[in-house]
Amino acid sequence: MKRTAPAQALERLGLHTLIDRVLHLPLRYEDETRLSAIADLIDGEVFQVEGEVLSSKVETRSRPQLIVTLSDGSHHQLVMRFLNFYASQQKSWVAGVRLRVRGEVRMGQLGLTHKEMVHPVVRVVKPNEPLATTLTPIYPTTAALPQTYLRKVIASALVAADLKEVLPVEARPQEMPSFHEALCAIHHPNLAELTTLQNQSHPAWARLKFDELLAQQISQYLARQARSQSQAPVLQKQAGHLFDALMAKLPFTLTDAQTRVVVEILGDMAKPIAMHRLLQGDVGSGKTVVAALAAAVCIEQGWQCALMAPTEILAEQHFRHLVAWLEPLGVTVAWLTGSLKSKAKQTQLAMVASGQAKLIVGTHAVIQEQVHFAQLGLALIDEQHRFGVAQRLQLRQKLRAKDLEPHLLMMSATPIPRTLAMTYLADLDMSTIDKLPPGRTPVVTKLVSLGRRQEVMHHIRNEVSQGKQVYWVCPLIEESEETDGSDNIKRPPLDLSNVIETHEALSKVMPDNCVGLLHGRMKAPEKRSVMEQFAQGSLSVLVATTVIEVGVDVPNASLMVIEHAERFGLSQLHQLRGRVGRGTVASVCVLLYGQPLSDSGKARLKAMIETTDGFEIARRDLQIRGPGEFMGARQSGAAVLRFADLMTDEVLLERVKKTAQRLLRDHPQAAQEHMQRWLGEKTKYFNA
Ligand code: ADP
Ligand code: MG
Repeated sequence: MKRTAPAQALERLGLHTLIDRVLHLPLRYEDETRLSAIADLIDGEVFQVEGEVLSSKVETRSRPQLIVTLSDGSHHQLVMRFLNFYASQQKSWVAGVRLRVRGEVRMGQLGLTHKEMVHPVVRVVKPNEPLATTLTPIYPTTAALPQTYLRKVIASALVAADLKEVLPVEARPQEMPSFHEALCAIHHPNLAELTTLQNQSHPAWARLKFDELLAQQISQYLARQARSQSQAPVLQKQAGHLFDALMAKLPFTLTDAQTRVVVEILGDMAKPIAMHRLLQGDVGSGKTVVAALAAAVCIEQGWQCALMAPTEILAEQHFRHLVAWLEPLGVTVAWLTGSLKSKAKQTQLAMVASGQAKLIVGTHAVIQEQVHFAQLGLALIDEQHRFGVAQRLQLRQKLRAKDLEPHLLMMSATPIPRTLAMTYLADLDMSTIDKLPPGRTPVVTKLVSLGRRQEVMHHIRNEVSQGKQVYWVCPLIEESEETDGSDNIKRPPLDLSNVIETHEALSKVMPDNCVGLLHGRMKAPEKRSVMEQFAQGSLSVLVATTVIEVGVDVPNASLMVIEHAERFGLSQLHQLRGRVGRGTVASVCVLLYGQPLSDSGKARLKAMIETTDGFEIARRDLQIRGPGEFMGARQSGAAVLRFADLMTDEVLLERVKKTAQRLLRDHPQAAQEHMQRWLGEKTKYFNA
């Protein structure tokens, strides 16, 4: 059967089931419960008026307009102006016809008594036609889905859906309405409830937030329970083996913070339950070496370790470091990315499958189907937040396929605020590196208007002549970050003009051949060669897109220029700034900004100037963007909290956690039912 356009639009909005529909809440309400006298209309506000048409005519100015004059029986009149109209409307809205109209009032040019509505909503009515008894909900919708159609669909879902309480009495919040009552109140409220509904202080809202958080907590507890039943290899460090050998080789001593997290991680790996741990630490805090040490323990016990990074450039850099550290100690390292030629790939895959390769480094190619590990003991995910939900699910499936589930350590430089951690990541243990290695000089951040770009370029020439190295980052419109070179996904056209133009301009200003260019559309070997030249110092300036955003480590680079800084997200800016200040030289980050600045653009630049602390940056980012976007939900399409707000609902969350625990203990069936109602198919995303 061919579906109609509105039915398809419903699907596109994600409104598949009755529950989806009743949880599609109004954006706002319109008041069609009252009529106003024309005499009482106020400029700029929305009113509903009823009356008889006095006259109707088409005026032709630059184009035809339908002008209809309405009287409500007083000596006041309302003029309605339609710039677009159908002939049928012109025919039916004629003198003597009764109309009920609703729209924003404007005082016309002819003075105070002349009141107008442009394009009001008009309905022909009989005398004494009843008014709405409740407020009219206005739902978020799309062009193909008319408001009236959607309203009917949702109203009938409210009747047809099974909305009975699934929670036992003792788990229900006593001061709040039932689930059913709450939904009715939100969809069809009385005028008196308007304010509390709009500022979400109405108890109906409290109930939905409670239920939503509860479902989410239940799913987290169940995930944790499931994991505690997993079986994992016991990987216990032994004196005198690879771990100790690597420690002895490091060119620095671990900081106290690094030592502490290594102990936490090794503690998990020595247990027969799969580790599920997030290692967070600000940009440059030294997470890589911690991961390498964990890998060493895994390998010395005869198991394989896989390290996955979100971009090829970053994977490449890890590969170089790890090969330098571990190959001399007798470890064979395999390399897997999508851009490998098929023959080379076969060789690498064979090494992985035979167990000859003990360490496997790469992009998400590492978790693709053709990869068969002989004996995977530990999976390391760098910059975990950069992977989409689909990839995290794929990883989980890969790991679970084994009799013994590998340990999992994820790393992220984007610290997760406490409330978010509690909600989304109840099934995750955390280790935090809270101090940077010694000897770092904080990066000085400067705001410079784009008008002074040329000046900045000349300044760079001076710096370069003194042996400094510089990153110059340009924004890309429509860039889709490549995680891999292999896939055949069609990408949106990319506007590289900015980065190419900047490369040319800088090349003119700088001494010969010292300016490199790096962007996501270059072939992997090209990227690799440019990155290597910059790392070795034969290139002094690297003009790049955000491909260098995460992980890249060239300690001699001490100046970072970010062009159109106002277009970048806050955590992105922080990550980019983290590319400098890695050596002992004092580093500078110049934020070149263009006008006009939006409010959030201003807030982001202000945060960058005021702090270099990654935790503070994350807190501000959460404030500016809200938790949904913060978790990267947009790109992943995963369900996030729709009703509860983690910034303001922390107290509620504490209470919900207790309820969830009691419910799971005393009424596991009800807990399941509640989770199913709220999350349905989405349950799996929360645990990805
Ligand atoms: P991130 O946490 O951002 O991944 P990296 O692991 O890339 O940070 O480390 C940043 C830099 O700090 C690297 O050059 C690394 O060699 C260096 N480093 C790491 N730990 C220490 C330490 N304990 N003392 C001195 N330098 C260190
Ligand atoms: Mg890193």
